[in-house]
Amino acid sequence: MDNELYLRRQDDWLREFESLCLRCGKCCGIDQDPCSQLAKTPDGRYTCKIYAQRLGAQKTVSGHTFTCVPISEVMKKGLPYSSCGYLTRKI
Ligand code: SF4
Ligand code: SF4
Repeated sequence: MDNELYLRRQDDWLREFESLCLRCGKCCGIDQDPCSQLAKTPDGRYTCKIYAQRLGAQKTVSGHTFTCVPISEVMKKGLPYSSCGYLTRKI
C-alpha cells in the first residue's frame, strides 16, 4: 500500500471512529461545570468550538483549569459515561 493510500485510510477510519460520538457533552462536563469551549448545536447536541486545537490546557465556565485529552486516553482508564457512543455503538 502506498503512503498516500495508507494516510487516506487512516483518515477514513478516524472519521468512522469519531462518528460513534453522540455529542452528548458529558465528557466535556455538561452535567457539572462545562468546558468554556463547549457549544450547543441547533439539534440539541453539543460541539467543541475549537475541536482541531482542543488538546491541552482549557478552562471551565467557572474558570477551573484542566487538560483536554483525546477520548482514547480517557477510555484507557475506563470511561465513566455508560451512555457514551464509544461504549454503546459499533462501527
Ligand atoms: S476543549 Fe476539550 S473539553 Fe473543551 S469542549 Fe473541546 S473537546 Fe470538550
Ligand atoms: S461522552 Fe462519549 S458520546 Fe458523549 S460527547 Fe463524550 S465522547 Fe461523545
